[in-house]
Amino acid sequence: MLRKEFLPYAVPLIEDDDIAEVVDSLKSNWVTRGPKTMEFEQRFAEYVGAEYAIAVSSCTAALHLSLLAAGVGPGDEVITTPMTFVASANIVLHTGAKPVFADIDPLTMNIDPAKLREKITPRTKALIPVHIAGHPVELDEIMTIARENKLFVLEDAAHAVYTQYKGKMIGSIGNATAFSFYATKNLVTGEGGMVTTDDEVLADKIRVMSIHGMSRDAWNRYNVSGSWFYEILYPGFKNNMTDIQAALGLTQLAKLERMQGARREIAQIYNSEFGKMPELEIPPELEYARHAWHLYIIKLNLERLMIDRARFIEELKSENIGTSVHFIPVHLHPYYRDTFGYQSGDYPQAEAVYERIISLPLYPRMSKGDVQDVIEAVKRVIERFRK
Ligand SMILES: *Cc1c(COP(=O)(O)O)cnc(C)c1O
Repeated sequence: MLRKEFLPYAVPLIEDDDIAEVVDSLKSNWVTRGPKTMEFEQRFAEYVGAEYAIAVSSCTAALHLSLLAAGVGPGDEVITTPMTFVASANIVLHTGAKPVFADIDPLTMNIDPAKLREKITPRTKALIPVHIAGHPVELDEIMTIARENKLFVLEDAAHAVYTQYKGKMIGSIGNATAFSFYATKNLVTGEGGMVTTDDEVLADKIRVMSIHGMSRDAWNRYNVSGSWFYEILYPGFKNNMTDIQAALGLTQLAKLERMQGARREIAQIYNSEFGKMPELEIPPELEYARHAWHLYIIKLNLERLMIDRARFIEELKSENIGTSVHFIPVHLHPYYRDTFGYQSGDYPQAEAVYERIISLPLYPRMSKGDVQDVIEAVKRVIERFRK
């Protein structure tokens, strides 16, 4: 039976405790970076097992400031994956360096370490592996390549809060790791991001650069023990987090295990149902992985269907099921085509998988009925259009 209401593909879990903490922040009269932001940084660092955490305005800012702090600039190359959100590549351009893509492993849709190795040149300065959907990349291999070639590893962990690689938390492995707390992500502050690192010099530089390059932030100037004096150490940015966002971060982090449990449960139900359908390929969770299940991406076996991915999405929409596609390969966007001369065929694995992927709704607020509705809708579309 057709669902009555449209089911969005992503909705955050905002509860009374989240709202109360934000109100507390508003009533405290301290709404920018202050005590709650500092507490959120400390708790987050402890959670992932990193020495330092710097809260910023977005994952994009976290990536950008990390690359700048690592000294990446004009003349350098940075290798990332074409199968990512464009922020992972745009921020390379903003340092003056050139983004270089290495094709993916079609199973996990993560960067293929062998392909990555082929792209290294004397100009290569850094690597940005992306843990797509919350499934970790092959980090041992990537860290080995980085050590051999003296490269900076900046993980894009926008999907990977909670992810583990061989039992180790993402956020405790690369030289720096960037997290996103955007509205659709597993832990939500509205807009927000975090860098984690064990490198004290890097952490200090990122923090200073996130607030104009000032030696003292507002908290350390305006509180009772503060001082009016500051110096500009770098031409910085305005990328700090606020206490209103950090209030949400604190309550969201406190309930992360529960939210992740709900995601895993839904993923398991999907896996057992969709695993029976030869028209679909379900997402893997390899033996080295603890998946964060940020996204549940099915791959259509197009040779068994009479319709393409775009039509499949339209059919699900008419069943009142919202979906998305993660991602349009970066090199196919007009700016990247025009600037770097990329064309179809340059990254065949990413392009082939792109034609097949659909992200289905997966979030803690989904009821058992919602999950069944998604399964039934997918079944009906397949029954209508199987070859
Ligand atoms: C969401 C996302 C980002 C950007 O995160 P913001 O916090 O919105 O800046 C970066 N990389 C990937 C892979 C993402 O999905």
